[in-house]
Amino acid sequence: MHPFDNVFVPLPRYRIAICSSCHNAVFPSSIKTHVNTHHCYLPVRHRQQIIQRAVELERRGIVGSDVSGIQFPSPGDPAVPGLPVWPDGKKCIVPGPDGHPCGHIRRTYRGIQAHCRDAHGWTNVRARGRPSAGVSPGGEGDVWVDSIHCQQFGKTGTLQRLFEVTPAQASTSTMEGSVHQSHRTQQSR
Ligand SMILES: [Zn+2]
Ligand SMILES: [Zn+2]
Repeated sequence: MHPFDNVFVPLPRYRIAICSSCHNAVFPSSIKTHVNTHHCYLPVRHRQQIIQRAVELERRGIVGSDVSGIQFPSPGDPAVPGLPVWPDGKKCIVPGPDGHPCGHIRRTYRGIQAHCRDAHGWTNVRARGRPSAGVSPGGEGDVWVDSIHCQQFGKTGTLQRLFEVTPAQASTSTMEGSVHQSHRTQQSR
């Protein structure tokens, strides 16, 4: 197997390649730094072959040279392989000038509220001092919706934009079991 294919998965539809070990999009312009920083355990010869393959993929029009050519998935698209899927995305549904919902996604209440405030001038009329447990934060279902499955191509710049995907399987029971670990057990006696 070519050293490139051991680590990277080209995704022509989105004009990127994914590093399946770092869960990050890479481009021909960034792959040299990427392999030398994150995959320096590979023999120099393999790293050179990886860089050459990336340049070749760009020449053949399979991946873009840098982040400017990136295509983001649409909400109906399946989850991108090699990247984590988060089930806790919060999506802005404020209509834009064209009438379509904004679609901006954040993963925290604070984040989506800040977006709605900064981008749309929204004010949280339900805020009454500190939020209390069990009460949904102001704006939910109103200017944003919860439980959107989302992914991101990386952790920096344009790549960190969250996008909505349709997960392959609706079942998240195993994940829920590991995530929801209560630190306190109820004392009934
Ligand atoms: Zn990597
Ligand atoms: Zn918005």
